[in-house]
Amino acid sequence: MATLPATNSPASGLLPSRHFIDGEWRASHSRATMPTFDPGRAEIHAEFAAGGADDVIDAVASAKQAGQGEWRKLSPTGRGRILAKAAALIRENAERLAVAEVLDSGKTLAEARGDVRGSARAFDYYAGAADKHEGKAYPLGPDYTSYSIEEPVGVTAHIVPWNYPLSTACRSVAPALAAGCTAVVKPAEQTPMTALLLAEILVQAGLPPGVCNVVTGTGAAAGAPLVSHPDVRHVTFTGSTATGIHVMKMAAQNVASVTLELGGKSPNIVLADADLGVALDNVVGAIFENAGQICSAGSRLVIERSIHAEFIEKLVARARALRIGHGLSEGVNFGAINSAEHLRKVSSYVVDAKARGVEVTVGGNVTTDPATGKGWFFEPTVLDRVRWDDPVVQEEIFGPVLAVQVVDSAEEAIAAANCTDFALVAGLFTRDLSKAHRIARDVDAGQVYVNEYFAGGIETPFGGNRRSGIGREKGLIAVASYCKTKAVTIRL
Ligand code: NAD
Repeated sequence: MATLPATNSPASGLLPSRHFIDGEWRASHSRATMPTFDPGRAEIHAEFAAGGADDVIDAVASAKQAGQGEWRKLSPTGRGRILAKAAALIRENAERLAVAEVLDSGKTLAEARGDVRGSARAFDYYAGAADKHEGKAYPLGPDYTSYSIEEPVGVTAHIVPWNYPLSTACRSVAPALAAGCTAVVKPAEQTPMTALLLAEILVQAGLPPGVCNVVTGTGAAAGAPLVSHPDVRHVTFTGSTATGIHVMKMAAQNVASVTLELGGKSPNIVLADADLGVALDNVVGAIFENAGQICSAGSRLVIERSIHAEFIEKLVARARALRIGHGLSEGVNFGAINSAEHLRKVSSYVVDAKARGVEVTVGGNVTTDPATGKGWFFEPTVLDRVRWDDPVVQEEIFGPVLAVQVVDSAEEAIAAANCTDFALVAGLFTRDLSKAHRIARDVDAGQVYVNEYFAGGIETPFGGNRRSGIGREKGLIAVASYCKTKAVTIRL
């Protein structure tokens, strides 16, 4: 089993008990710390700073001041060079970041390495975007020159969840910096380590002190003062729908803009004409990767009746073959649930479903790492032939629990796909091009994946509709969230 390599940095030893503010490590005003757990062992593995309003005030002040100094004078190309250097340093520190992510989140090392690669890629992509966000000129006739410039909005807040701690922070911080903004990041209290390591890497890449700050702590003590701070001009929040609504209300008090990346209950539609081997691989990955703790997980299988029995039999075999265990152990491909509290939530959904008579085809139980008897794990679970109005179809479980809805036609599949209040992602497996286009048009989702779940990259806009969110991340569209347009019109 790998261990976290020790270095001299307070964040990369096992006790990252400080914030990163103004380019330096700072203890909380209160001096309070809190533990973070290794979910694969259900044991404390580090302490970190329990921040509060005073720490947030310092971080926002530092970000505000940094936005008026050296950072403002730097050319967009200069900003891009720093972001490119950050991408290179993320790659150089890949193993350290991946191991820290496994210990905080419970995911497997292979999954964490993939997240680190994606994080470096985000910095590379937005390095190239920094000098390409152009203004426009407007045709007012011969007596005027009218043009617009895109200016950075100023201080931006980034509230990050625990399921993809590093890559979620990178996908919003990189475009904010590309736009010329400054940032204060509040990682989830369960997974603070990689955001702290990122802040240190950014300074090593040449980012001036104060341009990217990290305050750790709980949502109530550190997150709320950050999103309600009057100097924060844009909030990018990734997390649950309930908290997102609250965050939007707080930001509204200061007329600050928001990007909300919220929950999902995404349908994965498999039609009878699909390549069933490809569909099976993707249905398994869509719900069991990251032990199902993915906003865009394919947590509902919508399948045509004629292929249902055979498909479920194969799916059950694949679920049984997953190797549960600590993310740093050899050969494991199914990691832990992030916290004891979340494990209780996942489990109670299945216990209640069983009590209602829902059919549990495989899994359904809390378990531990077979090698140690420790950790917070939940078996890969399939709930078959579930009613559309059942809570396991309607509500986000955020765990390795797949609810199956059986349909008789492509039209009914569209109705099933659209039967929840969420609209983040829809997957579709078919060889019929007309059905693919029609369903892609008629399902309500921010992104539709045809014949490959999770298809798309940092280049592709990502976000949700309805209770899944507002605004888009990734792609060049994300840079616009961090800009304000100024129109200048001159009478000649
Ligand atoms: P959560 O809403 O409980 O917490 C998310 C973050 O918000 C944490 O950093 C938390 O400390 C902070 N927070 C909590 N209360 C706050 C408050 N009052 N003010 C400011 N910040 C506050 O969500 P979670 O349980 O950590 O994450 C899981 C949820 O995130 C799921 O619903 C999942 O679908 C969603 N998610 C969405 C995406 C997406 O891109 N759409 C990606 C990942 C996760």
